[in-house]
Amino acid sequence: MKALVVRRRPSRFAAAKLAGALVPGSGASVGVLELDDLPVPDAPGSGWPLVFPRLAGICGSDLQTVDAAASEWFEPIVSFPFVPGHEVVVDVPGEGRRVLEAVLGCLPRDLPPCPACVRGDVGACQNLERGSVEPGLQTGFCSSVGGGWSVAFRAHTSQLVAVPDTLSDEDAVMVEPTACAVHAVAKARPAPDERVVVIGAGTLGLLAVAAACRLYRPGHVTVAARYAHQKRWALEFGADEVCDPQSLVRVVRRQTGSVLVGSGGRSRLTSGADVVVDAVGSPESLESAFAVCRPRGRVVLLGMPGRARVDLTPLWHREITLVGAYAYGVEHLATAEPVSEENGSVRGEAEPRRGEGGRRSFDLALDLVGELRLGRLVSATYPLSRFREALRHAAEAGPRGAVKIAFDMRDDRERERLLRAAEEGLRAEEALR
Ligand SMILES: [Zn+2]
Ligand SMILES: [Zn+2]
Repeated sequence: MKALVVRRRPSRFAAAKLAGALVPGSGASVGVLELDDLPVPDAPGSGWPLVFPRLAGICGSDLQTVDAAASEWFEPIVSFPFVPGHEVVVDVPGEGRRVLEAVLGCLPRDLPPCPACVRGDVGACQNLERGSVEPGLQTGFCSSVGGGWSVAFRAHTSQLVAVPDTLSDEDAVMVEPTACAVHAVAKARPAPDERVVVIGAGTLGLLAVAAACRLYRPGHVTVAARYAHQKRWALEFGADEVCDPQSLVRVVRRQTGSVLVGSGGRSRLTSGADVVVDAVGSPESLESAFAVCRPRGRVVLLGMPGRARVDLTPLWHREITLVGAYAYGVEHLATAEPVSEENGSVRGEAEPRRGEGGRRSFDLALDLVGELRLGRLVSATYPLSRFREALRHAAEAGPRGAVKIAFDMRDDRERERLLRAAEEGLRAEEALR
């Protein structure tokens, strides 16, 4: 079975690190990632159907893997060899189209649920290296189950979320990253009179803008974006103002009537935004977040960081709340106001109010993707065989006018054959019953 696979080969990792540092996304060309013919993965237990990817997105964390730039933090919660791909829309034989909730929490591991998994907060699962499958924080980082960059892999039934027919495959492949953005914004819960700044307007930054504007309607949203197409999308998704990253401090100063103090790399505002979402995760973006966040404001770290040298004095001095946002689970939005549809009518039971039970991030993401047709952010797709080009395109998405790059398996003959065989097997099983 065709699959892209990452093996643990120290010499290649070293080469990929070097290549990736010079040209992001080019680690793939030195062999950390290979196109291979793998056996179809065995089911690790009951309730693990073989599923067949239609589209599988390329995420920033995948690029870091390919360039061997991922933090050593992940080592105990990844198992080699693995097939990447955690943003996936699949065909499930006999069931139809599903999106994958990629986190491998207690249920897929056949363990009694930990306190987080009891709440449905799979992103906070405490058992990522235990149970019936190999260590792996998510599908796409676990050797037992395969991953989305292939023609088939194993998914636990608890990971599969139904997709309404009204969504295209492109919409559906955006659900997983949208769930991450929803989760990040729900960490800050911006109030209707608060100012939000989003730093970075790649996939996650744009989705955070959409989530903030749709779920919370904060008083004002400013987006620091590098490229013209990113600015256009940010405005379309509800941003009030967009600017270049280097003008962010000046723009927020004007908005908030605060004063610029310090100079050069040390300049910051006396006041600033109430909430800053850092969708980049670099030392520069984090320092810029601190510079424009008001005293006692909140900074949400949505972009995956890694080892970073950052001056934490502002965090201390201004009592800024810095919170990470990983994956998704169940959100308690605590919106002050119900979200209106475009025509202004108030939506029904779908909108949680303060104090009510939470909603699964994936369900919120499905709504958001459908309302804004977020499949439009899929800029290009590639067959698995052109993976080097695909990864380069993903790494250079911004300058090339793109947002999300994905693998497209829909025309793959091997996939078609395996899917048909699985469906026939299912029918034969049913006939025997
Ligand atoms: Zn991701
Ligand atoms: Zn758990």
